[in-house]
Amino acid sequence: MRVITEDRHAINQAAISRAALTIVHRLREAGFDAYLVGGAVRDLLINGKPKDFDIATSATPEQTKALFRSARIIGRRFQIVHVRQGREIIEVTTYRGHHTSDDAKPSTSKQSDKGLLLRDNVYGSLEDDAKRRDLTVNAMYYDPDNETILDQQSGLEDIEARLIRIIGNPVTRYQEDPVRMLRVVRFSARLQFDIESNTADAIATCAPLLNEIPSARLFDEFLKLFMSGHAHSTFLLLCDYHLLAYLISGAAECVAEDAPSKTLVKAAMGNTDARVRQNRPVTPAFLLAAMLWPAVRHRSDALQQAGEAPNQAINSAGQQVSAETCLRLAIPKRFSIPMREIWEMQPKLEARKSKQILNIMSQRRFRAAYDLLLLREQAGATLDHCGDFWTEQQRLHPDVVGSAPDKEQFKSRRKPRQRNRQ
Ligand code: ATP
Ligand code: MG
Repeated sequence: MRVITEDRHAINQAAISRAALTIVHRLREAGFDAYLVGGAVRDLLINGKPKDFDIATSATPEQTKALFRSARIIGRRFQIVHVRQGREIIEVTTYRGHHTSDDAKPSTSKQSDKGLLLRDNVYGSLEDDAKRRDLTVNAMYYDPDNETILDQQSGLEDIEARLIRIIGNPVTRYQEDPVRMLRVVRFSARLQFDIESNTADAIATCAPLLNEIPSARLFDEFLKLFMSGHAHSTFLLLCDYHLLAYLISGAAECVAEDAPSKTLVKAAMGNTDARVRQNRPVTPAFLLAAMLWPAVRHRSDALQQAGEAPNQAINSAGQQVSAETCLRLAIPKRFSIPMREIWEMQPKLEARKSKQILNIMSQRRFRAAYDLLLLREQAGATLDHCGDFWTEQQRLHPDVVGSAPDKEQFKSRRKPRQRNRQ
């Protein structure tokens, strides 16, 4: 185990959350090991600004829970403890150990026939834990008392070489948890690090294992991939590694193969990243609407050629693409409904019927639909200056935009009354 002393790293203690320090100290006072670990140590070393703080400890989840009134044990596949300190929630994980045939208890260790770890709750030592983490740069342990870093997997060397490297045999590690492939791409894009060659090469053979991941977990990962300010570079890497199809299936081909579609999606990603940087709100509904638009348009064109009217064709195409995507990516209704509304407004915006102008502009989804229309034009769609038309209408009627009553709120207000009547 390499020990990096205070004089050989630049971690600034002042950048560490007080809540995390308090939890480390409390665990240590109770006689357990406790270190800051993972993303926090990595980010403290790279840019001094961690997003959140994770703690690794020798205490079991039950022992941790007993020490903190605000602690909750969560997760089944991988149990962790959430400890709330003021406004912060700190994740505390027990050192993971190796799975052997002796760990027969299905509540602690369970593996599918393809090697997927369905339960990863076998506990071990710090050395075991370091081997079970995903990437070398995520496997450093920081001791805030004597300010040393324990670095068994040469994470610091990889930070200096700007490399993302999986720990252990890449094929085995991807088989145990295929989401690690998405994490490799995510951290490479976010940190602008290269992917070490063995870590990269195994992705081609292991990628189909992503089909085994539950759609809810994939949606969580989708949010981390695209809503954290690095969507554009992440998207390009996912295309390079042919991983996009495992997130958005059939629609991915439209995006990856066809240059205008790719331009549209890249523009949407760029917009989202800019908004994240400016601390403006972003919604996955808009990003999904843009990513899946090429597939919806493709489907809708075919339906129109078969005789369907434009509005009907978009509605049916949207319904199909949304249903197919949800099989793989569990998009919650609060995002899939607005996504479809954004699509359904496109033919209405293109038609520019004078009697409908104010009504269209008053709708809640107008701004997002108009933004998608502009992106489509930027990406080369010939819509006869339709974007300019709606820009001018907003200038003429600034108070109308989004002024219609919110139908969903209205519905949800009525629900309790209906229940009372039963
Ligand atoms: P972020 O800044 O996105 O939170 P992070 O590295 O802290 O990055 P988390 O998802 O919070 O990522 O996970 C915390 C730590 O747990 C990681 O740094 C890594 O050591 C470990 N880890 C997370 N997911 C996996 C996984 N699928 N397999 C192995 N180790 C993992
Ligand atoms: Mg983290």
